[in-house]
Amino acid sequence: MSTDVSYPGVKAVATAIGQVLNRAKIPNLLFGWTALAVILVDFGFPDIDFIIPDKEVSHAIKALTKAGYKLCTSPDCSERDEDRGAHLGKALNRFHPVPAAHFHISAAAGPGYVLSLLKKDDIIPHLPNLKLGLPERKEYEHLTLSNDPRLPPRAEGGPSGPWYRLDPVRVLLARTLTEALLLLRCRHIDTRPALDNLWCDMLWEIMKANLLITGFSHEFDHPPKGYLYLFWRNYIIATRIADTTPENSVARKQKSDAEVRQFRAYLIADGKDPSDKYSWLRKKTGNYA
Ligand SMILES: [Zn+2]
Repeated sequence: MSTDVSYPGVKAVATAIGQVLNRAKIPNLLFGWTALAVILVDFGFPDIDFIIPDKEVSHAIKALTKAGYKLCTSPDCSERDEDRGAHLGKALNRFHPVPAAHFHISAAAGPGYVLSLLKKDDIIPHLPNLKLGLPERKEYEHLTLSNDPRLPPRAEGGPSGPWYRLDPVRVLLARTLTEALLLLRCRHIDTRPALDNLWCDMLWEIMKANLLITGFSHEFDHPPKGYLYLFWRNYIIATRIADTTPENSVARKQKSDAEVRQFRAYLIADGKDPSDKYSWLRKKTGNYA
């Protein structure tokens, strides 16, 4: 474990973008692999995904362009496809949600970074509207800041640790991110297989990180709340299969698919159609057992 961290590269770029959005009064939340780096496991991927309110996309493009970032308008860019390309093989960041807008950011060394703007209601329609400024007490129930000293410390093969030397950006808590990914799987399992793979991979990384913390029990440090708690518990029990062989990975995906389909059917029976992203906002959910 190292305590001397300067957070070069993707983290510094991510916080600089957060500041541009803040100055333009556009509420924002870091998502994706770079958000997962803060809270659980840091792969160092060059992907910077910001969730912003749906109606702020053109405003954000203007603010970022004014700040010197160049909007990608290439119709052939692989960022316009959920699958960034077969050449990426089994890379965890091969699949991604197609952003409402994206920017390529060059770096002093290497291929640079990709900034993606995602619409809030495409990813987390069930969460309250995004806000600006320091989070209020109630908001800390589902998010925090990237420099929060309560975040897990930096560890080799683990999280980046709090970004103390950089301006803060908002990130979801591990629990809230888990909840969002479970709901995204329910929405995309049989309609958007590329995206479903991504959400499944992210959940597996969260599971592995938590299983190490809790000594492979099925109880988690901070489990999802309410009706998602039992779903998450069943999901873990069914899919707690080590990465030792390719067959294991296939078996784990199949078992997780079965759990997701079962919970999806429950949601539909309860009046929440997962293919309708707004149904979570309209309906209360009963007891899942
Ligand atoms: Zn592009």
